[in-house]
Amino acid sequence: MKPNHTCAACGAAFTPLVHVPNQRYCSLAACQLARRRAWQHERLQTDPDYRANQAKAQAAWRSRHPDYSRHYRETHPACRDRNRTMQRARNARRNSQPVAKMDASGPFQPLASGFYLLCDALEESIAKMNAWTVHIAVLSAPRPSPV
Ligand SMILES: [Zn+2]
Repeated sequence: MKPNHTCAACGAAFTPLVHVPNQRYCSLAACQLARRRAWQHERLQTDPDYRANQAKAQAAWRSRHPDYSRHYRETHPACRDRNRTMQRARNARRNSQPVAKMDASGPFQPLASGFYLLCDALEESIAKMNAWTVHIAVLSAPRPSPV
């Protein structure tokens, strides 16, 4: 049979497998890897449960391999230096702005009820994984002091 499909990754013509008539990627290992990555990227964007499971699995892997990052930094000095430079730039950007945007209309803005991310302010890590999602229902708020 003549190849009648075009691979979404490499662009080569291929014949789909008999049981996968809508096959979009050819059977090359690199193209199957591209298919898997595209699927995962799409899933991470659209499925909060999948995203949470991935984050949990990555955290578990890191706890099973506590020396991996240190070893990687030691053996990849160029990556380490680039990462440091970029982290310093992110820190400078973050420190130059208030964490929460204040309302420009007035100096006092009471906390509104709603969902918030809660994290340990003293913890060094900026990873969002260490943050709780909490719902705060404001029952009473301090009054702005008269000026
Ligand atoms: Zn291909």
